[in-house]
Amino acid sequence: MSAAIAARRTAELSGIECTIILLERNPQLGTKISISGGGKCNVTHQGSPAELLEQGFLRTHERRFLRNALYGFSSSDLLELLHSRGVETEVRPDGKVFPLSGDASSVAKAFEELLKESSVQIFFSCRVRRVEHKDTLFLITTASETFTADVVILATGGVSYTKMGTTGDGLSIARKLGHSIKETSAALAPVFTVKAPPASLSGVALRSASLVASAGGKSVERRGDLLFTHRGFSGPAALSLSRDIAELCHGFGSAFLFADLFPEQSPAELDELLLRHARRHGAQMVRKFLQICPIAPLKDTLSQSPHGTIPTALVPFIIRHALLEIDVTWSGLYKEKRQSLLTVLKRFPLGSVRDVPLDQGEVSAGGVVLGEVNPKTMESRVIPKLFFCGEVLDYAGEIGGYNLQAAFSTGWIAGTNSLKK
Ligand SMILES: Cc1cc2nc3c(=O)[nH]c(=O)nc-3n(C[C@H](O)[C@H](O)[C@H](O)COP(=O)(O)OP(=O)(O)OC[C@H]3O[C@@H](n4cnc5c(N)ncnc54)[C@H](O)[C@@H]3O)c2cc1C
Repeated sequence: MSAAIAARRTAELSGIECTIILLERNPQLGTKISISGGGKCNVTHQGSPAELLEQGFLRTHERRFLRNALYGFSSSDLLELLHSRGVETEVRPDGKVFPLSGDASSVAKAFEELLKESSVQIFFSCRVRRVEHKDTLFLITTASETFTADVVILATGGVSYTKMGTTGDGLSIARKLGHSIKETSAALAPVFTVKAPPASLSGVALRSASLVASAGGKSVERRGDLLFTHRGFSGPAALSLSRDIAELCHGFGSAFLFADLFPEQSPAELDELLLRHARRHGAQMVRKFLQICPIAPLKDTLSQSPHGTIPTALVPFIIRHALLEIDVTWSGLYKEKRQSLLTVLKRFPLGSVRDVPLDQGEVSAGGVVLGEVNPKTMESRVIPKLFFCGEVLDYAGEIGGYNLQAAFSTGWIAGTNSLKK
């Protein structure tokens, strides 16, 4: 949608006459926009392009690739476009931007109106089956007809939430046109464990903990809120780390998960804090202490945390994993047991990963290999006049509006450059 609107604007500015056609396999446009952000659409993130690149795209090569697109069509450009269509927006304290109405479909509707004003011909329920490149023309075949075009922009999205129409058609089309495809995998997905967490923990959140996944001597880690679910884990830390976890599982068959409840302290620093506390509160039961113990406290203290306390429901499991007696006091906690408690607090075992379901990811990783696409124009380096944009490309952003922004930005750049000589 963004590419088609930008193409029309470029055509008008350059006095180029052309027909712009959008082929959409669904009976409506922007299906994923309409379900995004829990139906509220976290449409972008507030900040400069440099800030969005830094916070939203954790891998250096993706940041490098998206740089030009995010500067070319920034979050302010997107908001200006939406505001011009009467879609007012609000910035949440964490920087996420949503339509003020709380209605995701208002964003899709604004783009649909812009498309109509741009005289873009839209064919609904029109699934592209094949794209061929013959001489300098493209033949685009759907179930009922074949279109001819000078330029093609492939914007078919990723491969998650397949019921939304994103089944990876664009990837097989790109492969047949000679492009390399990085194998797709889950990103921003929940993580399921072999043994589901105990029912008493389902719904419990570990605020600002660090989620660690280890396999084959490698480990990956992400700080953020972590949510126990009835099948495993969700919440920002799990969603953000899911791509790395999926890759670990792919490489090593599985991965083991831990939670670090004291990410600010090294084991030695935490030991020192526990020891100091034990000296002062010898008669206190360790269990009682854990019930009021802050989670993820600041570095030099056990008494303050902006993130609340360790959830009470977790305390019996800490005691059990550390092999402590239920009524042990600090004065009765010998060095060996203190070490065992320390280990559990720094590496609370969460279980082996069973699955990181690709279809349940907000986005998918993998896709058209970035090295074969010119980041300044989004044009294929393999076939001239073939362009790519959005999630069909091999990048995956973080939660926070970065993925929609990247799709709109790469779309805008592709559309703008598609009509340049
Ligand atoms: C549940 C959920 C919530 C999300 N929430 C957010 C959020 O709040 N903020 C955010 O930034 N991102 C969010 N995302 C991610 C975001 O929606 C996507 O990254 C973004 O929509 C990608 O845009 P795209 O244009 O590349 O692909 P899509 O939006 O997936 O669009 C691709 C289009 O191509 C069509 N298509 C596919 N194959 C064919 C074919 N063969 N012929 C014709 N048409 C075809 C599809 O029907 C679809 O309409 C969410 C995703 C999900 C699944």
